Amino acid sequence: MTADAKLDLVSPPSAAAGKGINPVHAETYAGRSACVIGAGFGGMALAMRLQSAGIATTVIEGRDKPGGRAYFWEKEGFTFDAGPTVITDPPCLEELWQLTGHDISEDVELMKVMPFYRLNWPDGTNFDYSNDEVSLNNEIAKLNPEDIAGYQQFLEYSAGVYEEGYVKLGHTPFLDFKSMLKAAPALVKKQAWRSVYSMVSSFIQNEKLREALSFHTLLVGGSPMKTSSIYALIHKLEKDGGVWWARGGTNRLIAGMVRHFERLGGTMITGDAVKQVHTLGNRATEVETESGFKQRFDAVASNADIMHSYRDLLGSTPRGKKYAKSLSRKSFSPSLFVVHFGLEGSWPGIPHHMILFGPRYKGLVEDIYKHGVLPQDFSIYLHHPTVTDASMAPKGKSTFYALVPVAHMGKMPINWDVEGPRLEKAILDEVGRRLIPDIHDRIVTKFSYAPKNFAHDLNAHMGSAFSLEPVLWQSAYMRGHNRDDEIENFYLVGAGTHPGAGIPGVVGSAKATAGLVLQDLAAMKSA
Ligand SMILES: Cc1cc2nc3c(=O)[nH]c(=O)nc-3n(C[C@H](O)[C@H](O)[C@H](O)COP(=O)(O)OP(=O)(O)OC[C@H]3O[C@@H](n4cnc5c(N)ncnc54)[C@H](O)[C@@H]3O)c2cc1C
Repeated sequence: MTADAKLDLVSPPSAAAGKGINPVHAETYAGRSACVIGAGFGGMALAMRLQSAGIATTVIEGRDKPGGRAYFWEKEGFTFDAGPTVITDPPCLEELWQLTGHDISEDVELMKVMPFYRLNWPDGTNFDYSNDEVSLNNEIAKLNPEDIAGYQQFLEYSAGVYEEGYVKLGHTPFLDFKSMLKAAPALVKKQAWRSVYSMVSSFIQNEKLREALSFHTLLVGGSPMKTSSIYALIHKLEKDGGVWWARGGTNRLIAGMVRHFERLGGTMITGDAVKQVHTLGNRATEVETESGFKQRFDAVASNADIMHSYRDLLGSTPRGKKYAKSLSRKSFSPSLFVVHFGLEGSWPGIPHHMILFGPRYKGLVEDIYKHGVLPQDFSIYLHHPTVTDASMAPKGKSTFYALVPVAHMGKMPINWDVEGPRLEKAILDEVGRRLIPDIHDRIVTKFSYAPKNFAHDLNAHMGSAFSLEPVLWQSAYMRGHNRDDEIENFYLVGAGTHPGAGIPGVVGSAKATAGLVLQDLAAMKSA
């Protein structure tokens, strides 16, 4: 079998190939085993890819349920998704089923969301953002007709960076500096050193429109004023692929991934955190969990937080210590404060996704990213799934979450036991003022999720919600490598690796990592 044929496994086979594991791959990887530590989107996507190739794959998840940031809670008949709610680029997910001739619809029902978002400002201005050209132009014209032409130029720019940054490089592992140099001309041509906000501002005059076209970086942990303009690709990603919802919540997408992985013969272990990855020389040998489970694997991949992976799981090795030290000098994304609440009543007029901008944009972002303080004002992302999918709440009731970015715990110390309840009330008051006046009287159940919960539940370094900050100097080769530089069968997948956070990002990282594992294990066989 040629090297190309081995790598070809990362793409789906033709429909004629039928269902199940490709016999050529099954033979190549017979007797090979892999462990994936962590069942986030990246971990599950990698596990599906490896198991699809016939590698006996075990996923070990520390929490009682899979999903990671996409965990969920059920309370009083309401379903509360913990994290991702905006599903983009469904083909990157569909491919995970197509690898074995299956269809995602066997396990998950994806539903279109329209408008993508409603953006709302304190002066009452609304902007409905979608990929419908006529209505989008009308919305732009309401704010500044002259920006329609600028928007077309921005769209062209976004399409260009989408092609270079996502289609060509989104699932390419950057293992050496040479690979970075190869990508450099395209990055220079696209002025990747400029920020998304700066690039948007070069095309668009109206400040509200600048905010509308640049806030997306916040959804992957980046400041619009610092994140490389390459991230303007999100605009094109959403425009072409749409915004989607999984019936029953994002947690159903994770459940579908687990179901398909198990259908192929994969093994899931939950509620048993890995405490150590043992090594011998330059190889990972065994994985040991808190319960005492200990097993040898040919390949070990960590989907856990990148700092936790090196500092704790590989903490007894020189490599673990060295890389953890280097990570401690890097900049991590902020955290989030999320208020989950179930209300009496229905709100057909509140769209599924809303951004309630606060009075400040640049200053607020600086307070969070630079100064690390807890400002009095905030911008809210409001999630209202019941408007798309009534199954998320009991009849006649509604599920919401309101999320605000806050500094991670490595900045100024914030006592969340004191500040949490205050912030929760302030956020609910603001949603009340702008959308639901009697919100406090309608609350059936509520709870909040703070930076300390990210740190405790997910081993997230400093409670960061998105791992390493997505700035140019922490991208591609300068981000976590999909295969460790020294421990030759230890791999990484998820938000701390290339290309970064967000569902399409971590699913892309799984494709990059799977390519390496498959290549390495096939070489082991023929060696
Ligand atoms: C509130 C919120 C909203 C978001 N909204 C969106 C959105 O709308 N759209 C979007 O695309 N993205 C969104 N994101 C980003 C996206 O959810 C994440 O980038 C992505 O889900 C991270 O996936 P991951 O593969 O890195 O793994 P994670 O989700 O970080 O999972 C890692 C897993 O490893 C486990 N683990 C850790 N340590 C151990 C150990 N020692 N042993 C075993 N297991 C361990 C953890 O328990 C966890 O399950 C959001 C994130 C948050 C927090």
